[in-house]
Amino acid sequence: MSIDFEIPEEAKAIRERVRQFVADECRPAEKALADGRPYTEVLAELRAKARSQGLWCPFIPRDYGGMGLGPLANALVQMELGESYLGALAMNSQGPDDATMLTLLAHGTEFQKEKYLKPLLNGEKRVCYSMTEKAAGADATGMQTRAVKDGNENYVLNGEKWFSSAASVADIAVVMAMTDPDAPRHKRYSTFIVELPNPGYIIKRDIPTMAAEGPLSKVLGGGHSEIEIKDLVVPAENLLGGEGEGFNMGQHRLAYGRLRHGMHNVAMAQRALDLAAAHVVQRSTFGRKLSERQGVQWMLADCASELYMARLMLLHIAYKAEKGMDLRQENSIAKVFLAHMVHKVVDTALQLHGALGYSHDTPLARWYTHIRSQRLVDGPDEVHRWTVGRNVIKAYEKYGTTASAAGGDLL
Ligand SMILES: Cc1cc2nc3c(=O)[nH]c(=O)nc-3n(C[C@H](O)[C@H](O)[C@H](O)COP(=O)(O)OP(=O)(O)OC[C@H]3O[C@@H](n4cnc5c(N)ncnc54)[C@H](O)[C@@H]3O)c2cc1C
Repeated sequence: MSIDFEIPEEAKAIRERVRQFVADECRPAEKALADGRPYTEVLAELRAKARSQGLWCPFIPRDYGGMGLGPLANALVQMELGESYLGALAMNSQGPDDATMLTLLAHGTEFQKEKYLKPLLNGEKRVCYSMTEKAAGADATGMQTRAVKDGNENYVLNGEKWFSSAASVADIAVVMAMTDPDAPRHKRYSTFIVELPNPGYIIKRDIPTMAAEGPLSKVLGGGHSEIEIKDLVVPAENLLGGEGEGFNMGQHRLAYGRLRHGMHNVAMAQRALDLAAAHVVQRSTFGRKLSERQGVQWMLADCASELYMARLMLLHIAYKAEKGMDLRQENSIAKVFLAHMVHKVVDTALQLHGALGYSHDTPLARWYTHIRSQRLVDGPDEVHRWTVGRNVIKAYEKYGTTASAAGGDLL
């Protein structure tokens, strides 16, 4: 019996609709923004079109107004949406909102779903996630922000946060803070829903980064804020998921975010490779087309190989998710691989464009500076490789072979 790589008809059809939507609506909308049309107007129009075509919140259940797609169909959709920087926003599946919607859906009370999830699902509000602090990032169990219960009504939070993406455009912040310093390390933290703006959640600045910024970077959610948390009063009803559950929920949330970055990376890398191919077939040096040089063909071949592996990894993980199988090892392997893959492909495309690649006349330079962050966000390379490596050793000790930690039991 052979392995079946056939994608179900329904998933194929939805991928095709999204592909068309990105080509017919998102790409022209990018151009409209470049020509100076106001962002809010362009996005509102784009979202209205997406909704009228039933293209909205792909991974959210139908009962909540989403498309109810499973992991495979959603992965296929996300791989298309990443083709345009307006793609995910158009269908209200942009980060960090997407993973937070899933967390609220899984852990929110009815009150929290009604008050906070609903407007997020409707695209009326944006949310940010404040976990990392200057004091602690890769090892989030070192967070210092404290939450102290003030009678039964409220918690009062004090501390700081660092690199909260989209905080300056968010209406809601999901904030992690320590509720019990004496509990076991992973049970010390809880998660709070905070309405913004809020006098206790002070955005000190959007941190300048290496990412090339355009006039729209911040409104698109690209700002990363430094926050002071000072006597921030949070009603007890805004505690999400119970005391001590913050860390587990955070990890659950990050698991989806990691893969979404990877799915968008595939789309971006594909577009970069297309740009590279389009360039080398028309550019001549030393009397020959670049595309005729074997050295250039090898560069393209390496990019194609990486993209192929990336696609297979994502589809395999989607398959495992569909079946409810444990995919933590693959998730970490793919997170690291996909971040490097997109870096390599965009870098190669940029190299083949010469000075044009270094300019802002193509999107490559912007992508190049933007994607460097992916080796840091959602856990840096070294932490994932540490986990993966430990699992390799565990597998060897348990089974006498490392195969189960290295894709050996593929399905
Ligand atoms: C663009 C961007 C957006 C972000 N958005 C958000 C957000 O919205 N919300 C949020 O809460 N956070 C966000 N972050 C923060 C991000 O999650 C952290 O940067 C990340 O977890 C790493 O933490 P750190 O920067 O404190 O690095 P550190 O924890 O100081 O680690 C520094 C380096 O040390 C190495 N290292 C760490 N631990 C180990 C180890 N065990 N073994 C070997 N090497 C190790 C790694 O190379 C790592 O990069 C964002 C970061 C960036 C860059």
